[in-house]
Amino acid sequence: MKKSTKLLALFLAVVMLSSSICFGANAVLIGGETPYVNVDDDVIPTIIVPGLFQSETKYYDENGDVALDANGEEYKMPFFMDTTMEIAGAALQDALKPILSMVVNQEDKEQQAAHAVADILSETLMGKQKLDETGHFINDIRATEYNDCYRDLSKHDKETIFEHFPLEYYTKHAGEDKLYVFSYASLDNMIDIANKLYDYIQFVKEDSGYDKVNIVPISQGGSVFVALMQIYEQKGRSMADDFVKIVFAVPALNGSTLVGEILEKGLMDDDKELYKEMLPALLGEEDYLGYLINIVLRFLPNADVNNILDIVFDTFIREYAGYSTALWGLCPVENYPGARENYLTDDCMAQIAEQTDWFYNAQLKYKDYLLKAADEGVQIFDIVDYNVPLLRIVDSWDVPSDGIIQIESTSMGAYGIANNVKLPADYVPTHSNCTDPENHDHSDPHGLIDPCTALFPETTFYFFEQSHESSASNDVFMKLACSIMMDSNFTSVHSYPDVFPQFNGARKTKNLMKDIDEMQKYDKSKLSSEDKIELEESIMQATDMLDNTIIDNDEEAAAKTRFYAIRDKIVDAENGVTEPENPTGEKENTAYLDFSYALKDLIYILSELFYILFGGNGFSDL
Ligand SMILES: [Zn+2]
Repeated sequence: MKKSTKLLALFLAVVMLSSSICFGANAVLIGGETPYVNVDDDVIPTIIVPGLFQSETKYYDENGDVALDANGEEYKMPFFMDTTMEIAGAALQDALKPILSMVVNQEDKEQQAAHAVADILSETLMGKQKLDETGHFINDIRATEYNDCYRDLSKHDKETIFEHFPLEYYTKHAGEDKLYVFSYASLDNMIDIANKLYDYIQFVKEDSGYDKVNIVPISQGGSVFVALMQIYEQKGRSMADDFVKIVFAVPALNGSTLVGEILEKGLMDDDKELYKEMLPALLGEEDYLGYLINIVLRFLPNADVNNILDIVFDTFIREYAGYSTALWGLCPVENYPGARENYLTDDCMAQIAEQTDWFYNAQLKYKDYLLKAADEGVQIFDIVDYNVPLLRIVDSWDVPSDGIIQIESTSMGAYGIANNVKLPADYVPTHSNCTDPENHDHSDPHGLIDPCTALFPETTFYFFEQSHESSASNDVFMKLACSIMMDSNFTSVHSYPDVFPQFNGARKTKNLMKDIDEMQKYDKSKLSSEDKIELEESIMQATDMLDNTIIDNDEEAAAKTRFYAIRDKIVDAENGVTEPENPTGEKENTAYLDFSYALKDLIYILSELFYILFGGNGFSDL
């Protein structure tokens, strides 16, 4: 038993990632009505460079119209998948027979099932976004471009942007005309994206009338920025001519170990992890689907399931994902030579390899490029999360990380041993980039990482146990980024330590703000005076909590509990039925969920039992 759950895990991880990107709710600003820092009279415009699948991207037909699926609806990003009926139809037609034959015979003859499953899965996920040998989409796949400041965009575009980037605090205090958003299709051609970003920066300077701008590369936007820096170098231009501040937010400056290890070594090889822990961990402890899959997999012949998944995995990268140079941009330098050997040596990959080699060169030099920019006067900031393990699909899942990207990449070199492992008492750093070690205390209150080994310890902020994909749901994370952009006096972690300290915590407040906003607009005339007072006081308590930028999880929990108690009481009384939204992600006491928890428990027990009885073996191997 080696890889039988691997690709499935990868597939689920991709689906999970893609489903976590859209918050859905239109955020509002509660707390922060008064700015925490000095807002410049004349704020310099900021360009946002989005992360993976954060740009609205559409699939266009040959007439240049948005393509419609069999139900007459627009194909939805990130995968532009056909309707479930079509996928199921294709699966039944092509894969059912070989799979049944495999189950009956306990053997996959001529690997027919393997190839059928590989083709369907790959085509389902990547078919519409297939790329050619030069790394360009074969179909017309494009991100919506925003060739105006935020103020002048359509309502739809504004909402789409704020779904991903709740920047109300910024637009309220800096003005909607000071915000610009770059966009790109996440699997597109890296060099094209970086060149377009270069042009966009020149456009914003012209459109806004400012000779320099601020820029905020987020997550995958960090890897785009690495390519951009090499373009500045090749054009012989200084970044100081265009930028006042670069504010990185959880940037993939040296890719992600998740992508790198998958390309270099394949998925994790550990029976115990795979069978017992990986899928539940991937799907969340609350979700029984992982346990269910663990059980189902045991009914398939092991060797052949291995084979199927190896072939699926190989097909997926070799024929589809491997042509995306933007995806290659997420491969760390340590993994690139091995990954290149695996996937880029065939003749048909020569043009891809030429481009990814170009990017690899940029990645090797990214710190030099940044130091040069800093020397020339560009102020460089970085905001990162830490102490969240990577998805358990690669060997190095416990490397210090934010759940998606290792901290070495996001922080430009902060040292740590593993998540939840403290630095030893006799820890001696290999080097320190602190500019004034005598007078600065950069120590992590949790003792896990050393920010002084990072490239810019004076301007890098850390959010403990904040997960990468929820960064935008942490209002303090967003307020910090916005404050740096709006205040020319905000120059380092020493500028406002009582408001924005170097180390802060995790919180999820985006839905809370939306729910408070709703209750503020609620017609309170029908309420008893007691409920009305409690509602108002709970909103005040929550607003105070939101106004406090020093994260205190007890304060957060108390405010949420009080607010949702009265909110739910009012909503329940109105509806007569218990059907509140679930904004805090806490368990709800509805019959449906009780049932699913029971089911989850049952499946969990079965999964555990099978593991104890059979170890890492499938039934047919016994
Ligand atoms: Zn220092």
